[in-house]
Amino acid sequence: MNVQPDVEFIKYLKGAGGDTLKKCYQCATCSVRCPLSSDEKPFPRKEMIWSGWGMKDNLIADPDVFLCHACGDCSTYCPRGAKPSEVLGAIRSYAYNFYGWPGGLAKLASSAKGLPMLIGIPAVIIFIFWLLSGGMHIPSKEAFASHGYQQFFGSWDFKWYAKNIFFIVMFMVPSVGIALFSLYKGLTKLWKDMAARANITSEFRPSAVQFVTEYLWPSIVEIFTHKRFKECTTNTNRVTGHLPLMLAFVGLFIVTCWSLLKNDVIGLFLPSWHGPMLLYDPFKILANVSAVALLFGIWTLWNNRTKSENEGTTSKTFYDWFLIWEIMAVGVTGFGSEIIRLLGMPTLGYIVYFLHLVAVMMLFLYMPYTKFAHIAYRTTAMAFEKYRESSFGKPVIEQD
Ligand code: SF4
Ligand code: SF4
Repeated sequence: MNVQPDVEFIKYLKGAGGDTLKKCYQCATCSVRCPLSSDEKPFPRKEMIWSGWGMKDNLIADPDVFLCHACGDCSTYCPRGAKPSEVLGAIRSYAYNFYGWPGGLAKLASSAKGLPMLIGIPAVIIFIFWLLSGGMHIPSKEAFASHGYQQFFGSWDFKWYAKNIFFIVMFMVPSVGIALFSLYKGLTKLWKDMAARANITSEFRPSAVQFVTEYLWPSIVEIFTHKRFKECTTNTNRVTGHLPLMLAFVGLFIVTCWSLLKNDVIGLFLPSWHGPMLLYDPFKILANVSAVALLFGIWTLWNNRTKSENEGTTSKTFYDWFLIWEIMAVGVTGFGSEIIRLLGMPTLGYIVYFLHLVAVMMLFLYMPYTKFAHIAYRTTAMAFEKYRESSFGKPVIEQD
């Protein structure tokens, strides 16, 4: 086989946490210890070899790279200290960048050098909208107590659509739209590349219903139950952090949907439904419990990461820390806004709420290029794993 090493790719991996990859002497201990690796399709030894050879095309279309849950078992038992877990993380970060659209934004989100722009873009956009809305005022204590942040972008008499929601939608919906389109482009390309690499050339394809019921839904159930996370043996604390974090996002999503329905649909006919939720409202309770779960989860992952870096088992990378900082910023500013509202401090509240909007927009807008993308890429790889093991992934037997 004639191997053409991609030297730039090797350089990227080394700079993104995979600096130990050349230590690998291919003993395969990592593949044996990996709780998620199967006998038929073992990893991560082959990924270590491909990485050393700079075989970028193989790696970015390799479902095993995305199936890895970064538990660190392989790194713990590697006799050479080659840290395959870190190398796989570096490959994933490269892949999110490679599949990300638009390329400029993906590149910006890939290194700490882009951080001022990454914060600046949403900050400037939201600030401009705040100026355009004409709502740039600090409310009185009374108005703050009765409306909270619901008049951050001002208010108008048009009862069918709240001004605040109109302005939030103006920048949040395009952010989510760009992220979803980028993911759609990236994931369809990844799927095609994975199928081509796995030699799945069958003309027969599953129906949409079959795809959802047999491959996608079982993968989502596995993700929600954290079945694979629980198989890791050395870094068990990750479930303690990751599970509440995931449930917190689900809880906050439900509350956001309810809040929109309450204020912008039901509130049109029953004006008394407008306004901040009361503290004992079940959705308010869910919001607060989710916020606590989010802060607890991210704090646990933060500590976990710091501890493993101090012990030398993981490297400090922008890829890992950017998502931790982002989620922490969302949690702290969200919870902070709430507390400050209860304390009745409108000026400070408005500043913290502005920062909260910036943090939330960053989380959505940069989702396809940061570690957050693992939600979509891992789910796709898990569905592909089931697909390639089904009859669709088997060679067609010609009959006379
Ligand atoms: S990464 Fe470590 S455990 Fe895995 S094959 Fe290389 S030397 Fe062996
Ligand atoms: S980090 Fe965990 S899941 Fe990933 S390859 Fe290593 S042992 Fe397997």
